[in-house]
Amino acid sequence: MAFIEASSPHTMNTYGRLPIALSHGQGVRVWDVNGKQYLDALGGIAVNTLGHNHPKLVPALQDQIAKIIHSSNYYHVPNQEQLAAKLAELSGLSNAFFCCTGLEANEAAIKLARKYGHDRGIERPEIVVYEKAFHGRSIATLSATGNEKVQKGFGPLVEGFIRVPLNDIEALKAATEGNKNVVAVFFETIQGEGGVNPMRIEYLQQVRQVCDQREWLLMIDEVQCGMGRTGKWFAHQWAGILPDVMPLAKGLGSGVPIGAVVAGPKAANIFQPGNHGTTFGGNPLAMRAGVETIRIVEEEGLLDNAARVGAHLKGGLAREIGALQGVTEIRGQGLMLGIELSRPCGVLTQRAVDKGLLISVTAENVIRLVPPLILTEADADEIVALLAPLVREFVGQ
Ligand SMILES: *Cc1c(COP(=O)(O)O)cnc(C)c1O
Repeated sequence: MAFIEASSPHTMNTYGRLPIALSHGQGVRVWDVNGKQYLDALGGIAVNTLGHNHPKLVPALQDQIAKIIHSSNYYHVPNQEQLAAKLAELSGLSNAFFCCTGLEANEAAIKLARKYGHDRGIERPEIVVYEKAFHGRSIATLSATGNEKVQKGFGPLVEGFIRVPLNDIEALKAATEGNKNVVAVFFETIQGEGGVNPMRIEYLQQVRQVCDQREWLLMIDEVQCGMGRTGKWFAHQWAGILPDVMPLAKGLGSGVPIGAVVAGPKAANIFQPGNHGTTFGGNPLAMRAGVETIRIVEEEGLLDNAARVGAHLKGGLAREIGALQGVTEIRGQGLMLGIELSRPCGVLTQRAVDKGLLISVTAENVIRLVPPLILTEADADEIVALLAPLVREFVGQ
């Protein structure tokens, strides 16, 4: 038997880790170092778009590693051009900047918004952000985040954020009335860490209109809900709107660290040489991972798969546990689903591990399912079969 380190003596104490360590995976299955198998309904937190050991992705990455892993942004990077062009095509936007994580993509978006303001003579630009939002853990992005637990201990926070509730256009108008410093509105189409909270289609359209009227940037954090997860490339596309700025990360490279901020005409030319940069951003390996992820999602019809299998999974959950007292709501779209319980349910992650299922609990009482987009209906049935008894037992029915 391989051994599992039950504590982490030399890594910082930043995570409450479950007492397993994964050794390898195949499709939506993973195995721990003791050989126990799990069905992966978490996908590394919406990262492993193509599951594990994908037969097309792995050889492409091997090919890239053997050619060149990293060059530098001192030079042109053809894979960067290729991925930027593809993201422009899929999003209807025009230009991308590449980085390595979600928070970096959001940091770039915040800088874009501020410079957009400065370029227009606004010396103290302000950005509208949302209750329960999560944008990352750098000082600026945790300031934009709407969760005191994330912020506690790290003040003073970055100023220049105005916070409003979700799905309330009157509240947005009231909070910004007469304020000439506002430069952008910034939100997740479906909040991830905040508990799988969708913005309504009508609200998305209303915000687009307000941004147009007042010449604000509409900045949509698609780090978690984007890259095909909801059945469209980007979740805001369900509302038929275009953002001006769109941060991406998580699923974009199927597990290779990558982030991007994609911009349309209002924001694409704000940064000039010297304004922004990052050493690893856009390196040839990460870019190849992005290009191949998108190619494979297209070749294998994984947008339709996410929509179809997601609906099947949601239906199965609704049938098995939807009516239970103690299950408040089952929500989300495609393969981004949340099951809200009436009380904190963090213990379920360990109980699921015991049963061979990987899930997460976010916002204390929301079970989150963000599996790889290759999930089949049979896999979805298996998730329901493993999860439903745990939820029934937890809520005492
Ligand atoms: C995960 C996440 C981030 C932060 O991404 P990191 O790669 O962890 O920095 C930002 N925004 C959203 C919506 C996320 O889900």
